[in-house]
Amino acid sequence: MSVQTLIEKLQLGFKLLMPDRALKFFPPDFTFRRPEIALLKKRASRDGDGYLALFRLDFSMLHQEVPNEIWDELQNGCRRQMKISAGDRLPEDSLIALRQYSRTDYALLAWSQDKKEHGAIVPFELRCSADIIRSDVEIALASLFPAWRHCLKVTVHCVPVESLAEPRGTEQALENAYQLALALATRQWTTQTEAMRKQLERFLDEGAVSVLSQPIMNLSTGDIYGWEILARGPEGSYFHMPDELFRFATQTRLLSRLEFMIVKRALEEIASRRIREPVFLNVTAVTLSHPLFLQHVLQCLEHHPLLSPKQIYFEITERHEVADLEAMAGILREFRKYGFRFAVDDAGAGYSSLQWISELVPELIKIDRSVIQQVDRVAIKESLLRALLTAAREMKCEVVAEGVEREEEADVLFRLDVAMGQGFYFARPNVLLHEHEREIFREMKEKIQLRRGQVAS
Ligand code: C2E
Ligand code: CA
Repeated sequence: MSVQTLIEKLQLGFKLLMPDRALKFFPPDFTFRRPEIALLKKRASRDGDGYLALFRLDFSMLHQEVPNEIWDELQNGCRRQMKISAGDRLPEDSLIALRQYSRTDYALLAWSQDKKEHGAIVPFELRCSADIIRSDVEIALASLFPAWRHCLKVTVHCVPVESLAEPRGTEQALENAYQLALALATRQWTTQTEAMRKQLERFLDEGAVSVLSQPIMNLSTGDIYGWEILARGPEGSYFHMPDELFRFATQTRLLSRLEFMIVKRALEEIASRRIREPVFLNVTAVTLSHPLFLQHVLQCLEHHPLLSPKQIYFEITERHEVADLEAMAGILREFRKYGFRFAVDDAGAGYSSLQWISELVPELIKIDRSVIQQVDRVAIKESLLRALLTAAREMKCEVVAEGVEREEEADVLFRLDVAMGQGFYFARPNVLLHEHEREIFREMKEKIQLRRGQVAS
């Protein structure tokens, strides 16, 4: 036996003697000992519930195998960062264990006493913490492997660990939770995802989807030009954030039903808050092409005489799903007859959006966040922004710069005379407000006027 093997055996023997709690972060793969199960069982007597968050290293954008040489370092980096972030982002008594299932799959087991709202499956706070940890790991791996940063994504799927009757109760419950999270991560169809489809259908029947709004600022005056409406599933549920909501709805063929409902809900909220500015409704090209969509929107508007199609811009998302641009141009023509307007999202993010812009000639172009972020520091981004502004001017399209997060980015927009901006720097998405609740934007108006004046002089 070599010295190295001997040391490893001794280390293993030593670890076998350690208490479960000393092994809660990525224990070695014992065949006869599962510390996370013992730890979970211990919590089961207390108030609250157990949850599993499955973090997955997703290389699907790479279209080829990841070379074996980088896997070791990748896995070490992921485990190291998860340990740090889980420790930082979760209350100590909430974090039960971390476990690696495969080279791509890492689970965080947590305990939470927070309540779940609206038939949600995971408490909101936990879902948010898991998302922050996901982002921490993604950033850490991107800085470890800069060359891979564009093709490595980290995803997270949170599910409850439903307790089962003994004898294999906890172990089986954990396995079920893992299988469900895995099915969601890999988009497999299982009895569990079928149950989630039923849950989503129930949410749709109950109308349990809400909307937020984010202001689009007029950068000349500092006034609010309009509002982008952003959908949210029930708080704390798997479907809360739009990425998961729309991905799952698409996968289960509930997309258009969901979007019909969001438009109805959005128009109700806009009318009840007496919003007079333009509103921007996101809609997928698939739903826009639905034979009943126009009729549906017009019927919804009939209930709200103060609203008119002229107030509505449809922001077309997920364009890649529709190949037939000519048919789409015909559909836009139909909507335009009533006064609806169109915006193309994410301009500058890819070639296809340029093709869309030139063929559909939208009334408004939203310049993608990827162009705006760091536009003050990366000269080529400023050139790209200038090119898009020139194209928009020639096509007589209005322009909104999206994803403005920093003052320096806003200053570039002032300097280049960009008409409108949107982003966390101005305001985060929030519930829709009545006119008398808009005092909070007064300060921003003054700030825009001041900065604009300073940059111009
Ligand atoms: P999007 O159309 O690009 O919407 C803007 C997203 O960027 C929103 O995320 C918003 O919160 C976020 N955002 C705004 N300002 C900033 C910023 O300064 N920095 C950063 N990093 N992000 C910013 P959200 O609400 O999570 O929506 C994500 C996506 O989900 C949307 O991207 C849109 O494609 C889709 N979506 C949201 N609501 C709907 C809807 O009602 N229908 C459809 N079809 N899609 C929707
Ligand atoms: Ca949008």
